Parts: sequence; C-alpha cells; structure tokens
Amino acid sequence: MSKSLVGIRSIEDFELDDKRVFMRLDLNVPLKDGEIADDSRIQAALPTIRYALSQGAKLVIASHLGRPKTEEDKIKLSLEPVARYLNSVLECEVMFVDDLRGDAAKALFQGLKSNQIILFENLRFDEGETKNDPELAQVIASYIDIYINDAFGASHRKHMSVVGLPCEVKNRGLGFLMKKEIEMLDLVKEGGLPPFVAILGGAKVSDKIVVIEKLIDKVDILVIGGAMAYTFLASQKIAIGGSLVEKDKIKFAGSLIQRMEARGKRILLPVDHRVVTGFTEVKSLRETNSAAIDDGWMAVDIGPKTQALYAEFISSAKTIFWNGPMGVFETPEYSKGTFAIAKAVATNKGVSIVGGGDSAAAAKASGFANEMSHISTGGGASLEYLQGGRLPGIEALRPAKRSENTDGEYLPSTPKVD
Ligand code: AMP
Repeated sequence: MSKSLVGIRSIEDFELDDKRVFMRLDLNVPLKDGEIADDSRIQAALPTIRYALSQGAKLVIASHLGRPKTEEDKIKLSLEPVARYLNSVLECEVMFVDDLRGDAAKALFQGLKSNQIILFENLRFDEGETKNDPELAQVIASYIDIYINDAFGASHRKHMSVVGLPCEVKNRGLGFLMKKEIEMLDLVKEGGLPPFVAILGGAKVSDKIVVIEKLIDKVDILVIGGAMAYTFLASQKIAIGGSLVEKDKIKFAGSLIQRMEARGKRILLPVDHRVVTGFTEVKSLRETNSAAIDDGWMAVDIGPKTQALYAEFISSAKTIFWNGPMGVFETPEYSKGTFAIAKAVATNKGVSIVGGGDSAAAAKASGFANEMSHISTGGGASLEYLQGGRLPGIEALRPAKRSENTDGEYLPSTPKVD
C-alpha cells in the first residue's frame, strides 16, 4: 500500500455480504449518437464491481456524465446507455433510478437484494451534487452501509458524492482502480527507478508549470514536445515562425533549462518539425531540416529526427511518465510524432505511466495503449495529484479523528478536506 493511503481502508477490508454498498465510479464515457464511443472507464471500474458482487453486496452505483446545463442535456447526458452496457456485461439485474431523493428510490433501496445493482441517473442532474449539498448526502447515507470511492477521475472535485457523502458514512474506503491510480502516481511523485524520463507535451507551458517544478528534482531526463516546445525554443533564441508561443512563459522556460543543466540533467527539445502554413492547411505539410522554423510556417508535430532522438532516450528509461501529445494528433496527418512516442513508450520494458485526458486519448489512438503499464483514467485528477498530492476524494476517506465517541458510536463529521 502506498504511503499516502496509510489509514485509508480498501474495499477488501469490509464484510460486504448482504450490505448495501454505494460505489462512486467514474462512468463519464464519451457518447456518440447515444452510444458509448469508448468504454475504457467502464472497463476500468469492472474489477471493483465484480469483486463486490462476488462478496454478496447489494450494489448502488453512481457517476456523473459530462457537464449538464440545459434541459436538453438531461436527455443527451443520461447514463441510460451505461445501464444497458452494465446489463449486458454483468450477470445480474441493473435497475436504473433517476430520482435520488424520492420515495421510489427509498423503496428500491430497501428491497435491494444481493446480486442486484441500482444505477443512479447522472448525479449532476441534481444540483445538490456539484453544490456538495449536505441534505442530499444525508438522504443517500441513510440508505447505505458502506461507501466506496473508485472514481479517480472525479476525486479532485469537492462534490456531494466525492466529499459530502463519505463524510456521512462510517464505513468508507477505496476501490481497486483508485488504489492503482494512486500507487502509480506516487511512483512518479517519489521518482521511480532511474533513468526516469518524463515526456511533457500538449498545448500550454502554463498548464504544466507546477508539475514541471515538482518533477525537476525527480527526473533524469525531461523530454519536451507539443505546442509548449515552441516557448522553450523561443527561450533559446531559435526561430519558431508562427508556432504557438506563450510570451509570458519564455523566461520561465529559459530558467528551467538552466536549472536542469545545473543539476546535470538532460532536457530535450525538438531538433526538427512538421510544419504547415495554417492549422487547416494540411496540403502544405512539410518537414524542416533543423530546429529553426521559417516565418509563415507553424509547427504541428515533431519531425522524424526528433522522433528518433526521443525514442532512443525513452528506450533506455526504467521509469516513464508521459503527459501531453507531441503535436496536433487529432488530425491524422499531424499524429506521426505522437504515435512514434507512444510506440517507444510501449516498447520500453520499464514502468510506463500515462497521464489521463489527451495523453490517454493519444495512447489509445496510437494502438499501443495495452502495452503501457498504466494509463490514468483522470486527466485533471492526475495532474492535480502530482501537483499537490491531496485530492478531496481521498482526504474524505481518511478516518475522522474526533468523529467516534468513546462508546464507539459514530457521529457524522467531516474529515479535513482542503
Ligand atoms: P493538453 O491538454 O495540454 O495535453 O494539450 C493537448 C492539446 O495540445 C491537443 O489538443 C493538441 O492538439 C494540442 N497540441 C499539441 N501540439 C500542438 C501544436 N504544435 N500546436 C498546437 N496545438 C498543439
């Protein structure tokens, strides 16, 4: 068990037989025309669901889906397709409940049998979820015996199902996915076996400054790609043409390069690029001969020499952390660099951890995702965890020191959640 999880119970620590177990999952799957376009998050949650069922639990499952705002969203962002999916992959009955507070829900809860599942409708349809409404938390807490959080991707949110509810339930703990996510990210935070290579890409330096600062002492080699590489190149007075640049971060980029060098560490920047005359001008795509980019051209991907250079360093790594694509990988013509890096990460025999969000999408699109050690299911949560190390959803699972009186009677109280 990871040091950061000491004192927190896991699903295996509870007697689940005949107990009503509320499971907060991250079933926030992309939908296309009402169908699930990518089932990775459901697949990642299945081991915890199956374990609970095998132990005789009466399961209540809940998740959010997207960010509903309008009445129309209440149709578009329904969890009904997920209910159908669960019904088809699990050997048990999945009942779909769309009102969290009403008498019907209460009656269903009370009559719930082992090997039956209630799936709540999208939690965010009730505004009590995002407002962390204590009343809603108390209503749900009154129906359940055990609370399990396995929704890593939502654990950076101070929402009712993540923070308020567990604080109302004495028996609370985490599921298998949460445990794995934290253990893998702790490896990155503490610095895994050397050489430790961190590959950072994506849109902006500003989004990743705190993570970069946290990693600088842990990593041996920092590999930079994506749009943020051009801010770093600009700090070295290399021409970047019309590529994306954050002018107010050029100084930071320059000082980071100096600090890495002063520590005897390597920081790798692109030595060539794939460039176009405009993001949509796919036909103009060409490769540069060097790191410099002519006026009128913008970089949309790293070039072949950079791919080979980065792959060589990645191949010798014992630990890899990858966050952010190397280029505009959503456009197939601009995806070669990102996919080459995905292949290099997948071929490496060490531990490879991919931050969620766009990096997870890029890893999947490359076709190499299955060969990586761990792909995080939470983009925002994984970055926030690496930056600060405390997630509200995890803090809410810690024992509340003053919540139990001397007779062992449980008095609801809130563990400290920053
Ligand atoms: P992030 O969420 O910070 O990891 O950023 C991912 C986004 O960065 C993706 O949508 C990419 O298309 C975009 N991106 C990567 N490289 C570039 C580039 N050279 N120019 C513009 N956008 C880029």
